[in-house]
Amino acid sequence: MPNDPVLIVEDTPVNLKLVRFLLTREGFDVRAAGSAEEALEILKDFRPRIILTDIQLPGIDGLELTRRLKSDPATSQVVVIALTAYAMKSDEKKAFDSGCEGFITKPIDTRTFPKLIQQYLGQTGAAPSNGHALPQQEDPQEELLREIRQSFTTDGMEQVQQLINAQSTGFDSAAAKVTAHRWKGAAAQVGYVEISQKARELEDLLQQNGPDSVDRRRLLLADLSRLFAEAQAAQQVR
Ligand code: MN
Repeated sequence: MPNDPVLIVEDTPVNLKLVRFLLTREGFDVRAAGSAEEALEILKDFRPRIILTDIQLPGIDGLELTRRLKSDPATSQVVVIALTAYAMKSDEKKAFDSGCEGFITKPIDTRTFPKLIQQYLGQTGAAPSNGHALPQQEDPQEELLREIRQSFTTDGMEQVQQLINAQSTGFDSAAAKVTAHRWKGAAAQVGYVEISQKARELEDLLQQNGPDSVDRRRLLLADLSRLFAEAQAAQQVR
């Protein structure tokens, strides 16, 4: 269905870039929002057939966004698919309870993703099998992924150094948590499993914000700094 309008709501730039690329290449008319608030603004004069929304977003989350869309007659017919990093039954249920027609776990399978979206559009209400269930094989977007990996590690090294420096000058936990969340999702999407795990640990730590979390935070940031550097060095060898 060429030119079908699609709206992507995703706060992790790497994921947004990849999903946008995959769907634009299939001929979809793609618009993107980095937050639910931005999505609601776009929806004032853009009527997509399908909305792909991340669950964890800054501000209004993807579940609340879905509830709002489903309770508004102007948008209640739009197919809403949740994109989430958590392949957990409880999150799947939460997504359906909020009104989503479907659920795709990240990291997405780049080979099957466009077909999956077509299926959702073709058979509204019936959930096709999750694209993630298929094993990720040789990737036709190798060059795009290489480019994304490169900018991810370059940005990551800079951001982790800023966080390390900020420990002695005034650490902004809320901002760091947003960064850790992005690293977690982006690293998983481009295959940096260890970075994703450490970023998740850092996000959890900042979430708890316990009294003895400073030493642990220092260690995690040092680990992340090393992992980003290793990832970048490995790219230069190739
Ligand atoms: Mn997110």
